[in-house]
Amino acid sequence: MLYIVSTPIGNLKDITFRAVETLKSVDLIAAEDTRHTQILTRHYQIDTPLTSYFEHNQFKKGEYLLKLLKEGKDIALVTDAGTPGISDPGYQLIQLARDNDIPMTVIPGPTALIAALTASGLPCHNFIFEGFLPVKSVARRKKLEQFKGEERTVIFYESPYRLTKTLKDIEEVLDNPVVVCARELTKKFEEVRKASARELQEYFSKKTPRGEFVLLLNQ
Ligand code: SAM
Repeated sequence: MLYIVSTPIGNLKDITFRAVETLKSVDLIAAEDTRHTQILTRHYQIDTPLTSYFEHNQFKKGEYLLKLLKEGKDIALVTDAGTPGISDPGYQLIQLARDNDIPMTVIPGPTALIAALTASGLPCHNFIFEGFLPVKSVARRKKLEQFKGEERTVIFYESPYRLTKTLKDIEEVLDNPVVVCARELTKKFEEVRKASARELQEYFSKKTPRGEFVLLLNQ
């Protein structure tokens, strides 16, 4: 059986009883970064063996994990944060397992986009999640063009290093949307700031962006 297990996006207490029980009982945990997941497993005294499953070994390792699953082993799939497959290397293994009729179940839990959306105060009955925007400005602006006139709340993941450039692109490409920056959710420096793209650029010109960010827009 393959268990798709959500893990915390910051605060180690944000994990379900079922997730901890499952991580303790499976034969193997496939983790994006085993050192990172060890922080969680140590905290909950989970001594299940860990193996790495990340972007650059996912094809070879995926076949190996599939073989173990076919032999009847129980495997839990986790990533560094949140829900496997959401902008991280989970989904290829899930697809492989599904295509091979491997029994699987999902153990739901945190994901940064939903935490940010719920905290944003923006309409959340209808939204679009775009993952990470392109790194290069031309491609990023082209992507943003697609959201001109979009009425639904649009959600992106963004790196602190590109945040102010992206805010500038948002200001120049879109028609003065309300922007929410949700930073370091569930962690010590959690901050949710709602303003225009221009105001947020000013704010972050005085306070260097640090940590993990979700950007949300509503026009
Ligand atoms: N699988 C994860 C999920 O379910 O949210 C997302 C993985 S993606 C590689 C990592 C990105 O998620 C970060 O760059 C950031 O944009 C966002 N993120 C993760 N944790 C966050 C947090 N505590 N606060 C704000 N954003 C977070």
